[in-house]
Order: sequence, then C-alpha cells, then structure tokens
Amino acid sequence: MTKHIFVTGGVVSSLGKGLTSASIGMVLEQRGLRVKLQKLDPYINVDPGTMSPYQHGEVYVLDDGSETDLDLGHYERFTNSPLTRDSNYTTGQIYMSVIEKERRGEFLGKTVQVIPHVTNEIKAVIHKLVDDDTDIVITEIGGTVGDIESQPFLEAIRQFSLDIGKENCLYIHLTLVPYLKAAGELKTKPTQHSVGQLRQIGIQPDVLICRTERSISLEDREKIALFCNVPLEAVIEEKDKDFSIYEVPLSLVHNGLDKLIVKRLALRANPLNLDSWRDLVQRMRNPKHEIGIAVVGKYAEHFDAYKSIYEALDHAGIRHETQVRVGKISSEEIEREGAERLLGGYDGLLVPGGFGERGIEGKIDAIRFARERGVPFFGICLGMQCAVIEFARNVLGLEGAHSSEFVKDTPHPVICLLDEQRNITEKGGTMRLGAQPTRLDPDSHALACYGREEVFERHRHRYEFNTAYRQTFIDHGMRIAGTSDDGQLVEIIELDRHPWSMAVQFHPEFQSKPTAAHPLFAGFVGAAIERHVRRGERNRELRK
Ligand code: GLN
Repeated sequence: MTKHIFVTGGVVSSLGKGLTSASIGMVLEQRGLRVKLQKLDPYINVDPGTMSPYQHGEVYVLDDGSETDLDLGHYERFTNSPLTRDSNYTTGQIYMSVIEKERRGEFLGKTVQVIPHVTNEIKAVIHKLVDDDTDIVITEIGGTVGDIESQPFLEAIRQFSLDIGKENCLYIHLTLVPYLKAAGELKTKPTQHSVGQLRQIGIQPDVLICRTERSISLEDREKIALFCNVPLEAVIEEKDKDFSIYEVPLSLVHNGLDKLIVKRLALRANPLNLDSWRDLVQRMRNPKHEIGIAVVGKYAEHFDAYKSIYEALDHAGIRHETQVRVGKISSEEIEREGAERLLGGYDGLLVPGGFGERGIEGKIDAIRFARERGVPFFGICLGMQCAVIEFARNVLGLEGAHSSEFVKDTPHPVICLLDEQRNITEKGGTMRLGAQPTRLDPDSHALACYGREEVFERHRHRYEFNTAYRQTFIDHGMRIAGTSDDGQLVEIIELDRHPWSMAVQFHPEFQSKPTAAHPLFAGFVGAAIERHVRRGERNRELRK
C-alpha cells in the first residue's frame, strides 16, 4: 500500500519547503523506497508557464512539456522520482476541471461546493500518483498555512487520512524559529501559532521541521514539543546552510528524520547509504580551482529566475572539483558600460533563455566580446538566438539582422517563427515544449561531450533558426552541430575557430544533477577552467 507524506509550511514563505520535500524524497530513495513527489500550488493561475520569472522564479519544464513551478527542479535534482503533468497542480487547474465537469452535467444539477467537489478533485490528483510501484507519495502544499488560498488544500489533506487511515499518512510542518537579536534568543511562539492554525483545521502535524539561524537548545525543543503536541524526537532542527543546499539532506538525517518517518509509517526500508552524497559535498568543500562565469540575463538581480542554470554550473563545478563563482550581470548594464569593462575578469560567458526585447543588444555585445576574445561561451535558447544574430551582423555582414520576435520587418530575420506557431493566440502551454530528439554531427564538440549521437533535451520556445540562412552560416565557420530528427530544425551551433563556443536551442540545465553534471555544462566549465589556468600561467610569466 502506498503511504503519503504531506508537507506544509508556516510562519513565513520562502522557507525552503521544496528543498526540504526534495531532501526527504532523496533520503527515502537512498533507503530503497520508491518515491513520487508532487506540488500543489494554491495560486489561481492556470498556467505556471505564463507567470513572471521576476515574481515567481524560473518556469521549470518537464519531459512531457508541462511548465511547472521551480520546486520541481529540486525534486528532479535530488531524486529519481518520475515527474509528469500530474506532479504539479494549481488552484486554477483544479477549479477549471471542476467547472468543466459541472458544465458537462457530471454533478447532476447539484450545488457545486468547495467541500466536497473541490476537495474531492484535490484528493483525486493526489490519488493519481498511487500505483503498485510507489511506496510513498510526498505532496507539498505551496504557500503558507493561514493563506486564504491554501484552505481547500489543507481541508483535502485532512480528509485524506480519514479516507485511507491515519497510519498511512504523515503530516510534516515546516516552520521558522527566528532569532531576536534584541532579546538575544530564539523565539518559538510563531511556530506555536502556526501549528495552532493547522490544528484549527483539524490537522495535527506529526513532525515539525524548524528552520533556524542558530542551533535550537533542548529546552526550546521541549517547549515546542509541549506546546505543539508532538513528541520531542519529532521536533527536527534544520539550521541554515551557509555553504550548500546539498547539505540539507545530510543534516535532516543527522537529526533523525529518516528513522522517524520509517518508524511512523512502518515502512520496510534498507539501511541508509549516503556515501555518494557525502562525497559530493566533500568535493564542493575542497575545490582545486576557483573560476568566474558571467551570466548575462535580463533578470540579473533576481536569483530564482535562472535557478536551474546556477545549479547546473554548480554541478559542473562539483564534477571538476572547482568552485564556480557566478557573476550575475544585467544585459542592460552591458549596453551602458560596455562588454569589455564588465566581462574582462571572467573565465566564461553564459547567456540564458528569455523573452522580450529588453537588454537584447547587451547580450549580443557580450557574445561578440566572447567570440572575438576567445572566451568560452555557452548560449541557451534565447542565448543561442542572440549568438545567431551576432554572427549574422558581425561576421556575415547582414546589417540589421534580427529575430522577428523583436523586429517584425527586419531585413534579415535570421531567427523567425515556426510555421505551426504563426496562428497561435493563447499564451499558456502553446510553445514548442518538452523533450525532443536531437541528432548530433559526428565531428561536433557536442558529440564529444555527450558521447552519443542522439540526445533528448527539453524545449520551451516559439522562434527558430531560419533555415534559409543555414548554408551562409556554415560557409563562414559556424557548425550546425545538432538538428531535430528530420534534420530541419537547428538545435546546436558551434564555432570552429574558437576554444569553446556552443549554443543550444533547448534547455540542458533542466537535466543536470549534482551527482551527474550535464555533459555540456561540464564541457563549458572545463573550458573555462583551462582558460583560467592558462591566464594564471601567463600572468606568472609576465611577472618574472
Ligand atoms: N523568446 C524565444 C522564443 O520564444 C526564446 C525562448 C527561451 O529562451 N526560452 O523562441
């Protein structure tokens, strides 16, 4: 029988519920259990794909093309849980389905209500993940207990244990235990209030995970246990990690969380083996080099907008035992101050994906700088499109070359709309989305990195390399290193006369893991390390 873990959060948002859920999943997998993860988001948007990265962080894309919340990125990086469209639901999607059913007459004219119709729909999407191959489903409820939008979800998970039996459900509540400088102590009251709110709805949490800046004393843990009505062993400290998020599972295990879950849910689990995870944290702690990579994007100041890119750079760093320092640079700043000034000190340049015209010229200037100075360059999605425009303008001499996304009547639309995209008006879920095969040129760097001829990578875009210009690009030294299966769409470009310059139409960052860096990120960071070492040697020579 499949067991269920529900993860809720209280006191404040951004406590790292996604990371904690992913860590729990990972630890249980390491104990030989088959885990599935799911996030239920209380906001009303139907398409997470149309939400602003500025407000909400990156849109994470799955193999099946669903556009989801970025927490699913944590799930995939930490676990092997197979994620699909059923792994992420919003209130909007739940209500849409209820309303569609009502209009089809499925409720036989009854009054449609939050309880039972909406809560039944929520329970149904949780049940969807249950099958014979799944020992545990971990369902994370987005938002914070007390939010108006969360109520139906909390009500649904409360009913869940009545439906399938208390012994088959475990409620984990993540809270904050803040340190008050003026008082010089940790405060447990917000946690008590948050648990109080949960209990009002009828949920008694089984486990409390307490985020804190400082270690929680035994006395404070006893107090939390008493006031929140949980045993002492179920008050688990999760102290801030100043070093790496990949330490979170290690500390949860250290504080006894896996043993507690296994005991409470009466799971048949193997002994824990976290050697590979410990090894990766060890490698992060003892780097042999430190390099700088400039990430030039529209949202440089907003950390979560390029979350998976930063993680993938870290993974490549782990692989090469190198600390990758990321410089977040706004492309508009490059337009103001020039590429030379802002990029001079870096060992590599990465231009990520994006939408909208703002800052495009700065990205193009940055790419020109990297091409002319031999700086390792990695372009992703919009980053590739900018590299194509840069090459067209500055190598092929096609003045005014552009993407028709930004200048409709450009004389040289080197990036243009796919035919099948021309008549689409709805924004949500209508791009070229999800995993597609790419065939690699046998002589390409890309194939050398991947070590195989066909790869599946995830897409999320409307615009494409304009095939009409293909031969001109090839004649001037650009290699078409990868195409779609039928050879029609250009998926990877490379420069021949350059230490490392590659750009891809897809998003490799979504398939990188701390234990298995993505091959192209590993190749890019490897090239940046080489440049770093060479520059160091040259400087030493000059000083002699
Ligand atoms: N805006 C571009 C397109 O739609 C690139 C999208 C992206 O970078 N994800 O094709």
